[in-house]
Amino acid sequence: MTARLLDCGTIRDEIQCELTEQLHQLKRAGITPGLAAVLVGENPASQIYVRNKIQLCGALGLASEQITPPAGITTEELIEQVQALNRREEIDGILVQLPLPPPADAKRVLMAVDPAKDVDGFHPLNMGKLVSGRPEFVPCTPAGILEILKRSNVPIVGARAVVIGRSDIVGKPVAMLLLHEHATVTLCHSRTRDLAGVAREADILVAAIGKPASVTREFIKLGATVVDVGMNRLTTEAEVRSVFHDPTAALERLRARGAVLMGDVQPEEAMEQAGALTPVPGGVGLLTTIMLMANTIRAAVLRRQGED
Ligand code: NAP
Repeated sequence: MTARLLDCGTIRDEIQCELTEQLHQLKRAGITPGLAAVLVGENPASQIYVRNKIQLCGALGLASEQITPPAGITTEELIEQVQALNRREEIDGILVQLPLPPPADAKRVLMAVDPAKDVDGFHPLNMGKLVSGRPEFVPCTPAGILEILKRSNVPIVGARAVVIGRSDIVGKPVAMLLLHEHATVTLCHSRTRDLAGVAREADILVAAIGKPASVTREFIKLGATVVDVGMNRLTTEAEVRSVFHDPTAALERLRARGAVLMGDVQPEEAMEQAGALTPVPGGVGLLTTIMLMANTIRAAVLRRQGED
């Protein structure tokens, strides 16, 4: 069997077209949604993520701004900055780019974001709404995963779904979303016994572990849909050789770019065993930023409905 690669780029473009149409309508009503990104310190990966988000705001026509407090800012000072954004009428969405450098306490800072502007969906109130089946802001990567499955016509109702990884950002919310779509969901983690055996029961297998190529052939039921959330940077030849059966192409990429992006799924084995697979790169990661835009537009609409 050769797995169908799910076309996440086309799905991202479709969603972008739909959002562009929605934004035109909002602008005709005099509304320009606005996003504020809080980027603390100078973490290069965080800088790239925030730059991409700001650029997409510009491309779509959302207003955006960056707040860049220095590394070393205290939790209290950061909370004050977030509260100032909470009060500003023209800001609909606030994102605090993680990880925060010490001494800032991410949990306390995220708690300070007005839940009505919490476009990352990380506030406990929004988590609670998701769990209770009345989601307002769903974390962006899990929301993107559901878009991929639905728009690729992967049957979810009644399917056995196994999610490996129980983080608040990916594993737990994606499990909730699949449950609400009537899958029978098992949520696995580092203490799960016979992980491969449990995973092999899945019609839909979501890997959000953070360990390159850890989902191998014996984890995958023949014909299953495999969603690879992992984004692991391999930077040495030894790392590349240890995870690819045929490392030729990956080694060329490593030499050209200094790093190779690798998912949590062993791609050569998954291609032979799965029915459908999200690639890395070019998979789940393509959806995350566009879902942030969707949440920001949603926040702008919901806040104005709240005023009626
Ligand atoms: P995380 O917070 O580190 O959580 C990892 C989860 O995997 C934990 O629940 C952990 O279990 C579990 N785990 C670790 N080793 C395991 C093992 N050997 N067997 C079974 N479970 C194991 O990671 P995350 O934030 O959810 O991210 C997961 C991956 O997705 C990372 O590669 C990250 O870069 C990627 N990611 C991608 C996007 C995107 O846009 N594509 C967005 C977010 C994250 P315990 O709870 O028991 O420790």
